[in-house]
Amino acid sequence: MRRLPVYFLIDLSESMIGEPLYQVEEGIATIVRELRSDPYALETVWLSIIGFAGKPKRITPLVDLIQFYPPRLPIGGGTSLGAAIEFLIQDLNQNLVRNTPDTRGDWRPIIFLFTDGVPTDDINRAVEEWNKYYRNKAFLVAIAFGEEVDIRELNRLADQVLLFKNTDAAAYKQFFKWVTASIKTTSIGVNEGHRDEFQPARVDENILSRAAPDAAQEYKGTVDLQHAVFIARCQQTKKPYLMKYSRGKANAQLHQEGLAVPNRLYHLQGAYLVTEQYFELSDNSSTHKFTVSSAALVGVPNCPACGNQHGFAMCPCGGILCHGREEVPVCPWCNSKLIIKDSSEDTPGPHNIIRGRG
Ligand SMILES: [Zn+2]
Ligand SMILES: [Zn+2]
Repeated sequence: MRRLPVYFLIDLSESMIGEPLYQVEEGIATIVRELRSDPYALETVWLSIIGFAGKPKRITPLVDLIQFYPPRLPIGGGTSLGAAIEFLIQDLNQNLVRNTPDTRGDWRPIIFLFTDGVPTDDINRAVEEWNKYYRNKAFLVAIAFGEEVDIRELNRLADQVLLFKNTDAAAYKQFFKWVTASIKTTSIGVNEGHRDEFQPARVDENILSRAAPDAAQEYKGTVDLQHAVFIARCQQTKKPYLMKYSRGKANAQLHQEGLAVPNRLYHLQGAYLVTEQYFELSDNSSTHKFTVSSAALVGVPNCPACGNQHGFAMCPCGGILCHGREEVPVCPWCNSKLIIKDSSEDTPGPHNIIRGRG
């Protein structure tokens, strides 16, 4: 039986923490459940998941639907799309079954690329290689999550670029339904009609719209603008966690009063435990480069690991930690003893603080 390989190339940068990551994990589980009940898909579809942040990582190798177990997805810093595409090319080189005089190889693989940000690496070489070796042998559909995606860059790679308005849980449901339906129609096409091409299901334009092939939407700069995400470690448990802040509207009122507040404030969305995999998936350059003023941040979380009241204190080494009632606070990053001033107000600190990227 000829296989129909389906790859999910998933952006696991920091801004995906929280709701988007949860929805993508749920979505993948739904896709697999649905496809397993479809006889055509069950016979032909093989799935693989490659995640990428600062670095790419194979999360699930190419397996058939029976062997596929929906994974937990890790998070990292950075959005190295170029490195991810090169990793994908290597994976395809190794795993695709090619036509020989005796056997029929795999059907054309489908790659679903989900991304919510701007590449933080140079994608030129990856684009060149992709177009040279796989443009005509695979079908790559890129789905931009949200609005801060560089469509122009995606258009250099993808056969189709779709804009997903990831507004709520219902939108995610619709979106993953579309992915499932598209895989189903393609597997019917190859089985019954021997049509070796991607056949996308009909798109609900309110959820998913097509970007024009010449769309020029471009984002300059390498930091994610909608979110500010910080990596921290728990003082008690040393566990890493992320704090996500999202940009709110301009605070016109305070501006009118002539107060020196930043035009854009970032509001706390939540604090989330991550695993040590965060550091494996992050590139070296992702911290210490970008700063955001602590005055632009609204809200401080409790520590999600130990429940300490303050999730956000900064050591002079640059590491962020939780603190509470420790008599002698010790930085979980550099092990120095600290004196933390009792801060009763909701401000994380007087200094500019390091901000994660992507
Ligand atoms: Zn803690
Ligand atoms: Zn320290």
